[in-house]
Amino acid sequence: MTADETDLARKRRARRMARLLTEAHPDAHCELDHRNALELAVATILSAQSTDKGVNQVTPKLFARYPTAADYAAADRTEMEEIVRPTGFYRNKADALMKLGQALLERYDGEVPGRMADLVSLPGIGRKTANVILGNAFDVPGLTVDTHFQRLVHRWEWTEETDPVKIETAVSKLIERRDWTMLSHRIIFHGRRVCHARKPACGACTLARLCPSYGSGPTDPAEAAKLLKGPRAAELAELAGVPAPAANTATATARAAAGKDDTP
Ligand code: SF4
Repeated sequence: MTADETDLARKRRARRMARLLTEAHPDAHCELDHRNALELAVATILSAQSTDKGVNQVTPKLFARYPTAADYAAADRTEMEEIVRPTGFYRNKADALMKLGQALLERYDGEVPGRMADLVSLPGIGRKTANVILGNAFDVPGLTVDTHFQRLVHRWEWTEETDPVKIETAVSKLIERRDWTMLSHRIIFHGRRVCHARKPACGACTLARLCPSYGSGPTDPAEAAKLLKGPRAAELAELAGVPAPAANTATATARAAAGKDDTP
């Protein structure tokens, strides 16, 4: 972080950036389809090394076949492997789902618990997964430190920590607890749509003024606007005060009309 920025100044800057993210990504949400905590736990386990879209393609069949923890516990391994195969690492994932079902049945009457300490004691569930479940199925605020989250908070110099748990602690001191879950979604959306790993769209980013890494990607507005992704590319350009390229607008509008946002 910049040497002369005080803790208070950093907190104020972080909160201003969080407000801009709220404005930029009003559609931010958990992109894993689910109807209850068990489905979200299962979808989150399947999302390792896979896209949310890929997971959403297999879960309707999976959830219909295994509606309860007991169903996962008693599953036929080969059948489950076949269903989850498109998400990759299917043997490990099927094994994790069966073990999760067994543990839930043995220790929690088949229900997914709503406490961090209980969740991380379950097979296949680490702290990141637990925060996704707490935030989205139990309304318990949680920061989900995934790769987008790590990259962006480093670029923003919110923290220098590299360990996900330490990043979570550092960001928890900057942002009010009640905002943690939605902030996580918005950061992930910003990482997918604007602040890409390789070529961030700096010249078309609403956070540019407050971002110490402005200039990591193209600053030319026209060039940067072309890098914006997702169905709201035109709105994102507008918010950043730059014109959206015509081709980009047309593509974004067509994709939005088709209800598609396949940014990874
Ligand atoms: S200014 Fe550039 S580096 Fe900073 S958040 Fe925006 S896209 Fe990312």
